[in-house]
Amino acid sequence: MTIDFRSDTLTQPTPAMREAMAQAPVGDDVYGEDPTVNALEEEVATLFGKEAAVFCPSGTMCNQIAIRISTQPQDEVICDRQAHVYLYEGGGIAANSLASVRLLEGDRGRLTAAQVAAAINPDDVHFPVSRLVCLENTANKGGGSCYDIAQIAAIHALCRERGLRLHLDGARLFNAIVATGTDPSEFGALFDTLSVCLSKGLGAPVGSLLLGSRADIKQARRVRKLFGGGMRQAGILAAAGRYALAHHVDRLAEDHARARALGDALAKASWVGELLPVETNIVVFRPDPGQVSSEKLVAYLAEQGIRVSTFGPGYLRMVTHLDIDDLMLERAVEVLRRASFPGKE
Ligand SMILES: *Cc1c(COP(=O)(O)O)cnc(C)c1O
Repeated sequence: MTIDFRSDTLTQPTPAMREAMAQAPVGDDVYGEDPTVNALEEEVATLFGKEAAVFCPSGTMCNQIAIRISTQPQDEVICDRQAHVYLYEGGGIAANSLASVRLLEGDRGRLTAAQVAAAINPDDVHFPVSRLVCLENTANKGGGSCYDIAQIAAIHALCRERGLRLHLDGARLFNAIVATGTDPSEFGALFDTLSVCLSKGLGAPVGSLLLGSRADIKQARRVRKLFGGGMRQAGILAAAGRYALAHHVDRLAEDHARARALGDALAKASWVGELLPVETNIVVFRPDPGQVSSEKLVAYLAEQGIRVSTFGPGYLRMVTHLDIDDLMLERAVEVLRRASFPGKE
């Protein structure tokens, strides 16, 4: 048996989700005529207290659309140095929006209002115009860390005062909502635009939504078409998302508990050099290179049927998700407990 902790994107649609997809009424969504897509967009917009939403093929597309509609060429986007929008979207900020980026050194991916304030450029022709702040919650590279909502509120107030827009990359926002017990509308109230993914912890095969004001989402639909993201009978995918929202949100708490169990096992292992605090479904750690290299550890775990992903120099990531059950967790914890790497390599 292989137990795959590489990502929460690896989940298979459940039989009940596939059934919901098969039964979905559909239409041409570029014409605005897919009833299932329309229902999903309305449902998620309402959940977050935003006026409108647009269904997109990926979280990357949602983020890139948000950046495009929030900036002009020559503007600058402020984000953490490890933000997905900067690190993992193929240079899209430059390619899609002709904007530059100001990278900040956050605390496990999280920025403070003071950091953002210090990064806003003065009104001077030499400088790009600071136009948009992008936050990420949970922060992937921060090991699934969650923002304190008060910290976001302070950044929101700063952005209002200085005339910047605020976007949330909420690929795993439902994990943060479940972990912190925050109402989705609290997030909706603090951001101009938010992206949420249905294809991570929620277990849908495809799909993300961008949320915002009616005017922003109207413009976002235009950019989605430009980016090639206008889909036709997309209700088949939206049905999976609606099913996921109805059945797979509360259970994220189980993923978080299993991630904590992995973290506990790693905390006790003598060969672990560093372990980030486990807040949600992501566990990031670094083996002590004096005992075992990350390459050797990945190979050893793979031999034992445990797949993990490499996550920057020396770091590894394990992610719990819908397709990891307690039996798999026990097996993984056992492998981590038993592993020992005596002597120098
Ligand atoms: C996965 C992810 C996205 C979007 O990824 P897609 O694969 O394009 O859906 C965006 N931000 C973060 C933090 C992510 O982890």
